[in-house]
Amino acid sequence: MPGEDWPRRWRMEGVRLLCAPGEPLLEGAIEVADGCITALGPNLPPDAQITSLDRTGMLVIPGFVQGHIHLCQSLFQGLAEGRRLDRWLRERIWPLEAALDEESLRAAARWGIAQTLLHGGTTILDMGTVHDTDVIAETAREMGVRIILGKALMDAGDGVPPALTQPPETAFREALALHDRWHGSADGRLQVSFAPRFTLSVSGALWRQLAAEARRRGMLVHTHASETPWENERCREMHGLTPVRALAEWGVFDAPSVLVHTVCIDEEEIDLLAGHGVGVIHCPGSNAKLGSGTAPAWRLHAAGVAVGLGADGVACNDQLSVPAEMRLAAQLQSLREGPGVLSAREVFAWATDRGAAAVNLGDRIGRLAVGRRADLLLFREAELPWPPDLPREQGFVYASAGLRPAEVIVDGRQLVAGGELLTGDLSTIRREAAQQRQRLLARLERKEAQWEFPAN
Ligand SMILES: [Zn+2]
Repeated sequence: MPGEDWPRRWRMEGVRLLCAPGEPLLEGAIEVADGCITALGPNLPPDAQITSLDRTGMLVIPGFVQGHIHLCQSLFQGLAEGRRLDRWLRERIWPLEAALDEESLRAAARWGIAQTLLHGGTTILDMGTVHDTDVIAETAREMGVRIILGKALMDAGDGVPPALTQPPETAFREALALHDRWHGSADGRLQVSFAPRFTLSVSGALWRQLAAEARRRGMLVHTHASETPWENERCREMHGLTPVRALAEWGVFDAPSVLVHTVCIDEEEIDLLAGHGVGVIHCPGSNAKLGSGTAPAWRLHAAGVAVGLGADGVACNDQLSVPAEMRLAAQLQSLREGPGVLSAREVFAWATDRGAAAVNLGDRIGRLAVGRRADLLLFREAELPWPPDLPREQGFVYASAGLRPAEVIVDGRQLVAGGELLTGDLSTIRREAAQQRQRLLARLERKEAQWEFPAN
């Protein structure tokens, strides 16, 4: 387990704390026992049982919630360029995913988790893939990140490689077995959701079945919805409704649920999501690169929807960085709605406490408060690239490109120190990712994978 030699009870002294967006900075210390924040602020009474850590000059903020990624795609950077979603999936991403094996999936998950942690992402909501999802759970456990993982469900649809299509009963059984094996493990750091890929790759019968089971188990349902006009059109042809209306019809919103993208939704659908407490993950970088559009993120937020941010995968974004998504989200909403409509504090909240609420972890993480899990980032104040009187939220949203946390703590354990990953050797992770990527491409060229990989 990571951080085994890290103290069970500790106190970081001499820090400034940005506990939640919009709150005044708090001077003093933060105290943690067994992964949980137990005290905050100035003048904490001395306690000989607690390991004292001098962090003078450090700013402490809540860890960022990486609200939607595909760890399995972390070897695919640059392999699916210049395509809109439908061709991007059919011609590149699905064949590549179908060619993954356990070893390449492990290398991809390690690389993706390392990049997420080094950019300050402490919680991941992952879409998984169809096969070998246990590898993602094992890797997350080993590297110490907080994760909600899932097995991607695909039992229907056009252009899906046979290797990624399963009979609905197999898909459902494997998703439940994953939940039974991993949900709540590693002191609750690992959780398991349903991850039906989208309305075009899952049959109505399977949607109804998983919605009922998710309601029964209190299990999160994580899916893509209304990313492009093509998806909406095909969903109407297949199911007679737009994705959001179809999901409502199947009972998905009666379970804890989170939709990713929602680029092409109307006002009535925004009200439907707000009324059912459905979270939304906004992925501005992915939506821009694939030419999908700009989601009505501010409108969703204004209607009361918990909005979070996600990078999606490296094949449609290139970087697994929440700060990069904050900046782009703020800028694109300014273009879409006009400047000043959305504040930097609100966007910072999308990366922290609203993002946590969007992925159904709003009572556990997302802000620094007694009783919350200790997921936090430390930055050297003297090195922040903005004037000291600027609100910190504004600095992080607009001016933190290239800025990495000096220290990353997840569930009370130190995973990054001095900007270096502690729960894996980065040069080994990088080398293995490069090797596995070459092997994957060689398998596709030899057509060992069950799907043709068209030339550019
Ligand atoms: Zn995605």
